[in-house]
Amino acid sequence: MLTVFGSTALDTIRTPTKTLKNVLGGAATYAAISSSNFVKTGLIAVVGEDFSRKNHNILSKYLDLQGLTISKGKTFRYDGKYDNTLSTRSTLKTELNVLGDFKPIVPDEYKKSQFVYLANNDPEQNTKLIKEFDNVKFSMCDTIDFWISTKRSAVIKMIKNVDAVVINDEEAKLLTKEHNLIKCAKKMRQWGAKYIIIKKGEHGSLMFYDDVVFPTAGFSLENVVDPTGAGDSFAGAMIGYLASKKTTKISEIKKAVVYGNVLGSFAVERYGLDGLLKIKNGDIKKRLKSYEKMIQF
Ligand code: AMP
Repeated sequence: MLTVFGSTALDTIRTPTKTLKNVLGGAATYAAISSSNFVKTGLIAVVGEDFSRKNHNILSKYLDLQGLTISKGKTFRYDGKYDNTLSTRSTLKTELNVLGDFKPIVPDEYKKSQFVYLANNDPEQNTKLIKEFDNVKFSMCDTIDFWISTKRSAVIKMIKNVDAVVINDEEAKLLTKEHNLIKCAKKMRQWGAKYIIIKKGEHGSLMFYDDVVFPTAGFSLENVVDPTGAGDSFAGAMIGYLASKKTTKISEIKKAVVYGNVLGSFAVERYGLDGLLKIKNGDIKKRLKSYEKMIQF
């Protein structure tokens, strides 16, 4: 089993072609729905009383929700706007609401999870939570500019406590105060994580371990409408694949990164969560085949 912890949100996403208001989102939501394509996934998250039955039903269709708390107050809200090229997103608002002082409880069944993903969330909460698992074989975390700017030393401490970090290139630079991605990864490895996966949006990713760099291409797409959650879907697929194989062999970690690129590509093709929700049986296999064809020479 895989446990995913992090934000479940009501997002307002402003793209050049469409604005979505208060739609189901959140880093943990994207990651967990993505990983559920590979393995049973339990979600630990908090939502407020404004979280609709319809959204609850979407989560329960894909995920084990023993770890979902409904608290008095409003759900975490995020408001972001993309530029015309869809390559830059500015954050207009981050309202923590019930996430602010959330004290997560790990259900007994989840404590046995050997694979744990700490999606974007308060790094102090993430570090506390990972210590509650009895038998972790592989843990991974992400972070975002909001936490780097407000709690940088807690983010560094979180990195000490996980096996892998999956982070986008701009955030890696902001966090490490380096400009070169190799230097960024070296610094994060010195802080304690063994594997550093730096995502580069449509250009794929670089994974660093030992003295090795493993680059992967993004799955090339002509029609991208909303990149929200692509990174979370990437991470969810990666750790979901590993959890399904119950392994941390490097050859499988490399395959997991490829699945990350594939699931990320589904996320950006439609607005909000729709890209992930519309995946049908066989779609992932088919895209993996095209991906393999694409990178062969
Ligand atoms: P991504 O596009 O991969 O950066 O992830 C976008 C998702 O992250 C959105 O659905 C947001 O709800 C969520 N998010 C944005 N800011 C934060 C934050 N500070 N902490 C946790 N989750 C966040």
